[in-house]
Amino acid sequence: MKELVIISGKGGTGKTSIMGAFATLAKNKVLCDADVDAADLHLIIEPSIQSRHDFKSGRTALIDENRCSQCGQCRDLCQFQAISLDFQVDPVACEGCGVCVHFCPENAIDFPINTCGEWYISDTRLGLMVHARLGVAEENSGKLVSLVRNEAKGMAEKTGSDLILTDGPPGVGCPVIASIGNADAVLVVTEPSVSGIHDLKRILALTEHFRVPAMVCINKYDLNQKLTDDINTYVRNSHATTLGKIPFDTGITHAMVQAQTILEYDPFSETSQAIQDIWQKVKDRVFT
Ligand code: SF4
Ligand code: SF4
Repeated sequence: MKELVIISGKGGTGKTSIMGAFATLAKNKVLCDADVDAADLHLIIEPSIQSRHDFKSGRTALIDENRCSQCGQCRDLCQFQAISLDFQVDPVACEGCGVCVHFCPENAIDFPINTCGEWYISDTRLGLMVHARLGVAEENSGKLVSLVRNEAKGMAEKTGSDLILTDGPPGVGCPVIASIGNADAVLVVTEPSVSGIHDLKRILALTEHFRVPAMVCINKYDLNQKLTDDINTYVRNSHATTLGKIPFDTGITHAMVQAQTILEYDPFSETSQAIQDIWQKVKDRVFT
């Protein structure tokens, strides 16, 4: 079983639209939406949730006023000014370091684990999908990314699937690192813009550092042919390979509005043909 992770150095490159199109083309796979901070694959794939689970991570101090002697030690020790004059913990300011819990002489501070979001196993018209929703302003999205990838792997093993198709988070931060570790290959979706090239360089440096084979596709290539040429030159001199380019196409937006992938919405368009061509090259590389 192989895992292909689709990433982009920045948001707005069309990563999820290409992921959706691949989901239409791939056989015997499990889908994994690891873009947990801003999941949007569900908008075009419309999952029907079969099971729902809490995502728990981190802890927050909670003072029990019946046990508290108001000695003030916790307030003096808290480096985050999270404890008020009347010994209430501000859950937003509390970083969960546990210092107050450890030093409270009355053992008056509880330290429950937080529920930060939910993850799901769903049926979709394109196959099983594992996805998640992180709570508002919650952190630890890297941990949730690892969790959904592990669950997708377990699901793929259980169902005898050949492939896990993972929609990774944008950027180059902790969630992206959590999404590419141990992947068989990544496909970086980029676009011909100054910020697109800048972020492509950063994401390729990351894949090289973690020794993950990287492929590149240039979306909306015809918006700036000069920058498309620059991307091709850059990738040619890197450890990665450019597999193809996809034209700018308002059909992608129309497909999204209809909750369809571009392959379902307009299978014979130039865009769909380009994506099929890239998918064939991805398969040749991932499965050989
Ligand atoms: S250290 Fe414990 S007993 Fe002292 S004020 Fe804080 S919670 Fe109350
Ligand atoms: S757990 Fe740490 S951050 Fe939270 S209130 Fe206690 S000392 Fe402050």
